[in-house]
Amino acid sequence: MSAPSLPARRTIVVATGNRHKLRELRQLFADLPVELVSMADASRAPIHVVEDEATFEGNARKKAKAIADALAMPALADDSGLEVDALDGAPGVRSARFAGEGATDAENNRKLLAELDALGPGSRTARFHCVLVLHDPIAPEAPLVAHGRCEGEITANARGAHGFGYDPIFIVREGGAETGLARTMAELGDAEKNAVSHRSKAARALAPLLRRWLGV
Ligand code: IMP
Repeated sequence: MSAPSLPARRTIVVATGNRHKLRELRQLFADLPVELVSMADASRAPIHVVEDEATFEGNARKKAKAIADALAMPALADDSGLEVDALDGAPGVRSARFAGEGATDAENNRKLLAELDALGPGSRTARFHCVLVLHDPIAPEAPLVAHGRCEGEITANARGAHGFGYDPIFIVREGGAETGLARTMAELGDAEKNAVSHRSKAARALAPLLRRWLGV
């Protein structure tokens, strides 16, 4: 008797140059029959997409479609960022370039802490928001879209060496996820971050849609 055949893995290009996002998305979709390849693996020439939409969803849709069309293959885009209530939702869609075009994570974190310090004592509540979009050039009218959010607050000082971006200045505070030690997201291991993060919630919301698309 022959062994039952496993479903063929579908190749999807991840429309990001951010290796941290790619790594997290590979972990989050590890149990689906998909192979997530990087832009560098899928394309010889770099493809630049201008992220000029007003929302995470707008940017994610734009990136997924542009990359899927350019490479004629399904593309998964992640647009995400941090919304700080005391800054009216900034840095929001400008999270990657809050301290200027090409700013480092440390520069963005320093600018954010300085802006909050300048406001004086008060609420430092914030959330991470992630939108994932899968665009299949064969079904361009029906991209798959999912959102995930993670509530928390901004610390006084950066701490931790894991993760990326604003992780060192963000403490998760929601739904029993508070670590008790008030660790920042950069002080959580991969599995701990993946249990609570905005990206993991978006991935969990996208998974059933992806399964239907994959036919598994
Ligand atoms: P994007 O590539 O335009 O979506 O920019 C995302 C930016 O949001 C990143 O450069 C980070 O600054 C921030 N960001 C998104 N997700 C995370 C996360 O999981 N941890 C920390 N920062 C994040």
